[in-house]
Amino acid sequence: MSVVTIERKVLEKNDAFAAENRRRLAEARLFAINVVSSPGAGKTSLLEHTIQRLDGRLRISVVEGDVQTDLDAQRVARYGAPVVQIVTNGGCHLEAKLVQDALARLDLAATDLLVIENVGNLVCPANYDLGEAMKVVLLSTTEGDDKPLKYPAMFRNASVLVVNKIDLLPYVPCDVDTLVGNARTINPALRVFQVSCTTGAGLDDWCTWLAAQVTALRA
Ligand code: MG
Ligand code: ZN
Repeated sequence: MSVVTIERKVLEKNDAFAAENRRRLAEARLFAINVVSSPGAGKTSLLEHTIQRLDGRLRISVVEGDVQTDLDAQRVARYGAPVVQIVTNGGCHLEAKLVQDALARLDLAATDLLVIENVGNLVCPANYDLGEAMKVVLLSTTEGDDKPLKYPAMFRNASVLVVNKIDLLPYVPCDVDTLVGNARTINPALRVFQVSCTTGAGLDDWCTWLAAQVTALRA
């Protein structure tokens, strides 16, 4: 029983930091997404393509979560976006306090869109609010169409599902309609984008939608 209590206290503390982050982001009138997925689904690739496509239209800043390295931050920095790396030293999710420290090192007034790339993990990042406007869950076709049913909390707490690697559909045992249907069984309100970071398919729709969110927030 004590384990349950400790876990609840940790989450309550996290929620308090998340609320502060949300207030700070609202003051800066900044749209923030928390991108979650399993390792290798393509979070950083999606980010690279998004930064490139929105260059000159949106000022994007990035918080990179990683268990051990700053490899992803190096990739993102190559495209000119301000990036702060959080290394969790083995920790399997980002927490709101870590994101708060990262925000202090970014110029929020010079940012339109904040992208937080979470640690690759479909389990506990679902429970940790970071202060974002919404969670974006990324699922690649190579992972299989049953994943929304196996990790329901993540799909329930996300507002957007990006299905990546649709170019591989002919080669993998994944039915994209089943995948989307499973996700909408968990969360009927999910907005879905189908993309390939290899061919570029679907990325314009995704970027147009992102830009519209920023515009709506500023209106
Ligand atoms: Mg990555
Ligand atoms: Zn974790």
